[in-house]
Amino acid sequence: MIWPAFVRSFRFQLAAAYALGLATLVGVLAVVQGHVAGERALHDQADTLQTLARSTSVMLADGLAERLREVELLAQSGRWQEGHWPETLEILRRTRSHVSWVGLTDAQGRVIAASGGMLVGQNVAARPWFQAALQGPHTGDVHTAQLLARLLPASPRGEPLRFIDFAAPLRDENRQVVAVLGMHVNWDWPQHIVDSLRSPLARQQGVRVFVFDREGRVIHRPEDVTVQERPIELAPLVRLPSIQTWDDGRDYLTAAVRVVARNAATDLGWTVVVRQPVNLARAGAREAQHAAAVAGSVTAALVALLAWWVVGRLTHPLQRIARAARALRQGELDTPMPVVDGPSEVRELSQALAEMTSSLVRHERELAVANRELEQRVAERTAELTQATESLRRANARLEQLASRDSLTGLPNRRSLTDSLHAEVRRHRRSGQALALVLADVDHFKQVNDTYGHATGDEVLRAVAQALVGGCRVTDLVGRFGGEEFLLLMPDTDLAGARVACEKLRERVQALDGPVPVTMSFGVVSPAQYFATMEEALSAADQALYQAKAEGRNRVCAYEGQPPQAAPVSGFLPLEDA
Ligand code: GH3
Ligand code: MG
Ligand code: MG
Repeated sequence: MIWPAFVRSFRFQLAAAYALGLATLVGVLAVVQGHVAGERALHDQADTLQTLARSTSVMLADGLAERLREVELLAQSGRWQEGHWPETLEILRRTRSHVSWVGLTDAQGRVIAASGGMLVGQNVAARPWFQAALQGPHTGDVHTAQLLARLLPASPRGEPLRFIDFAAPLRDENRQVVAVLGMHVNWDWPQHIVDSLRSPLARQQGVRVFVFDREGRVIHRPEDVTVQERPIELAPLVRLPSIQTWDDGRDYLTAAVRVVARNAATDLGWTVVVRQPVNLARAGAREAQHAAAVAGSVTAALVALLAWWVVGRLTHPLQRIARAARALRQGELDTPMPVVDGPSEVRELSQALAEMTSSLVRHERELAVANRELEQRVAERTAELTQATESLRRANARLEQLASRDSLTGLPNRRSLTDSLHAEVRRHRRSGQALALVLADVDHFKQVNDTYGHATGDEVLRAVAQALVGGCRVTDLVGRFGGEEFLLLMPDTDLAGARVACEKLRERVQALDGPVPVTMSFGVVSPAQYFATMEEALSAADQALYQAKAEGRNRVCAYEGQPPQAAPVSGFLPLEDA
């Protein structure tokens, strides 16, 4: 995968690494801190719930003991014989909170006086409180109202009226029970205690208080709990608050405290249970966790920004240096290498680079100048050399000409003739084609020289040479063999043809319109058997020429004898045998 250049930049990567690292750290810390805080919050909340349960139980125990004590004291006061008790009972009911009914019965259980006159004249001998009070002071557990249910207003929650009963006997001097004092306390009393102890916030956070009786039945439950609910086991909870699953299937942090009675008569075996939904118990911790996560995220973002800024301070000068270096590489030698601000290391680097670059650029320029000079010098030298080579070539060509041409007539000289003759004879012997060799000599040329001078002689020689060249085929070779002697080589020409050709040449020379009339003698040799060696061929031609001289000159003679023994021709260079 190819990332965009921006993502691959050092700046982005460092900032991202910081942000990611810190975010991870913050996340881990938030989880750990959240766990720890959650546990601590649960622990603290458990303490709070237990404290509330304990306070409630203390108030319940105190309330039970106080009411029973009140009933006892009134029963012992002896004021009941005075006949003012209906008013006294009414005042008692009104001044004591939650008291629904106070009444006095005779020893047989007939109500003789009561608050509000209720139940007066009726017999309550079957009521448990009356029965128990005959023995001594008594506290009766919560029960629904029996006789009073019709006489008193129902509870606001629409539930049946419930009471707890307090009762004590009145005795005469002989300790005989003469009457029983009974008090019914409305069972909205514990709710009043809970409301006074529990803060509104705790109520909002789902803290609810229950009271269970000795058998584990719920005798008090919160207003908003309409079904019967209870934790699974009470006994362990009394020892230690814990998380319990209640009958509604939800988990609650639950604390329980036994109501410790002040005396045996008020020991009803109650247990106060306080619960709070676990999620609400942890709510405080979650808020702290949330706040820590937010603070951590903000810190991570700030550190990433800081890293972005710091790396920017580092990389911005480096980018300027890189831009300048790129421009220099592309040949813009006038680009200055910037000396940048920034961290000291970068500043030092940029200074060193600037110095190095200026030195390199100076050398580069000097090198360019030196290169140009060198190229110019090389061009000059090359031109000179070309010129010299051309002169040499011309001189060589001239030398070649001088070496192979006769200076007087311009014809091939003897040396050149030797080479040509050598090659021609070799070809002739290989191919078997006809070949004729002719030696021609000006007659009595010595006399020309002697008579007309050497210059005239030279002029005659030039004219004779012209006549020979002009009368031959293009393929024939004509050269000056020496002095006034010429050699003619005629390829593809047999003896008869050579005779005819030489006759024509003889006539041309004779017909020359020069300063001095001259004639020539020709010695012809052909065909091939006379060319076993170069020397033999020349010797044969020489003999034929000698014969022409001997027969009176100005004629053509052919060699017709046996192939001559090889004998060197005077002045002829020896040749290797072909
Ligand atoms: P023959 O008919 O027997 O050949 O008689 P000739 O006089 O021609 O023969 P000879 O060999 O006695 O004389 C040749 C002369 O040619 C001698 C020499 O002075 C002359 N000669 C040779 N080379 C040159 C030259 O380059 N220029 C001039 N002008 N004369 C030359
Ligand atoms: Mg001669
Ligand atoms: Mg001659």
